[in-house]
Amino acid sequence: MSGPSPTLDLVGIGIGPANLSLAALLADRGGLRKVFLERKKSFEWHSGIMVPNARMQVHFLKDLVTPVDPTSPYTFLSFAVEEKRLYRLLVSGRTHIPRREFEQYCRWAADRIDDLRFGVAVDTVEFDGDAFLLRSSHSTMRARNIVIATGLQPWLPPCAAGHAPDRVLHAANLLDVPRNLAGRRVAVVGGGQSGAEVVLHLLRAGEQRPSRLLWGTRRGNLFPLDDSPFVEEHYLPNYSRYFHAQPPERRALLNEQQRMSSDGVSAGLLREIYQQLYDLELVEGVARPCDVMVGHQLLGIDQQRHDLLTTWRSADGELVRRHVDVVICATGYRHGLPPVLRGLRDRMPDELPPVRADFSLEWDGPADNLIFVQNAARRDFGVADPNLSLLAWRSATIANSLLGEKRFDTGQVSGAVDWVHADDQLMTGTHGD
Ligand SMILES: Cc1cc2nc3c(=O)[nH]c(=O)nc-3n(C[C@H](O)[C@H](O)[C@H](O)COP(=O)(O)OP(=O)(O)OC[C@H]3O[C@@H](n4cnc5c(N)ncnc54)[C@H](O)[C@@H]3O)c2cc1C
Repeated sequence: MSGPSPTLDLVGIGIGPANLSLAALLADRGGLRKVFLERKKSFEWHSGIMVPNARMQVHFLKDLVTPVDPTSPYTFLSFAVEEKRLYRLLVSGRTHIPRREFEQYCRWAADRIDDLRFGVAVDTVEFDGDAFLLRSSHSTMRARNIVIATGLQPWLPPCAAGHAPDRVLHAANLLDVPRNLAGRRVAVVGGGQSGAEVVLHLLRAGEQRPSRLLWGTRRGNLFPLDDSPFVEEHYLPNYSRYFHAQPPERRALLNEQQRMSSDGVSAGLLREIYQQLYDLELVEGVARPCDVMVGHQLLGIDQQRHDLLTTWRSADGELVRRHVDVVICATGYRHGLPPVLRGLRDRMPDELPPVRADFSLEWDGPADNLIFVQNAARRDFGVADPNLSLLAWRSATIANSLLGEKRFDTGQVSGAVDWVHADDQLMTGTHGD
């Protein structure tokens, strides 16, 4: 193991879309000595659940850079032009491209941006009094500032723990290994976008379609993603800043109220599933191709001799039991302190310290050593934080803070709702209904 290298101005940990966006904004600009590290060998985006035909949930112009730096060489439009597909894209009339295409675009950008190192997993981050030490299996790096963008951890319900991973798995790992589910009884848990994508994927598997499919969600129905125009304003910089200025209890309430603008299922996907069920059952004569169990919470999974006994509680308290062979949990992701920061935990006031307006964490360390987080601040910035809509704006905010100047315009944009004004009225009690 080699000794510490010279101190860099910035090390980014994780190269998903978030840090790729920051790397793209800082590329070719000089000024900072920096490197971004990724444990995977090359750029990949949620490859374990990259089911065919999955579409993006945001417009393709909400790419790595366009909303803050439209003349950057790393825009989606530059990619489309260079790949000679822009005209066809326009003819297709699509605004929401396939997820595979977004991954191709990110890979294209990653191939062109310097300062990215793949195949380096950072194990721990420590602080030596002057700089951060980032330890990986092959080296220790020193950095004045760090940007953590290691993504969210898949979350499994407690009853799903301890089973063989080929029998009970998280949807994030569905495609990690080849799986033949033909003739098997499969339960999909979770009524959000991932659960819906997995269900459609299985219904369309042809010869490999499971013999029985059960889709359970504790939600009262399979609710659509609310991306109607005024709700979409929650995904504007103005709203994020407004949200950040609210007291913690109000932010928690708003996040709960706005859940379906982030955790619902794309309406087009729900329609595709509905039509697929119609075709299979009523046209092709397949008996009940999927048991849709809304209002059912998974309580237990018991390994029996050859199969798994799943127990669900319905909304009216009734216990329902179903035998299956495989359980796929599309049960979301855990928001919290990124695991790589565990080594600094005793320098932080809370389990997840407050995140400042420039996306740096409050921590007990020198003011000029900053720890930025990307996609770890839903509590502080609202439902837009894990979404790609404000990816470029958040990176630009971090870049400005690192550069110590307003290199990118991250101020108010035009919006139909005046969030700051609404807040002022709330404070003074002058608002009506
Ligand atoms: C299946 C899926 C589809 C989504 N689709 C959309 C969408 O259409 N629109 C939208 O707005 N949002 C979408 N999201 C939400 C969000 O945009 C994505 O989760 C996005 O990938 C977040 O980017 P990220 O860079 O923060 O994290 P990630 O993409 O998860 O990247 C984190 C990276 O960090 C690496 N890493 C982790 N730990 C270490 C370490 N210790 N050392 C080095 N590297 C490390 C990981 O290998 C990974 O490559 C989707 C989320 C999922 C799960």
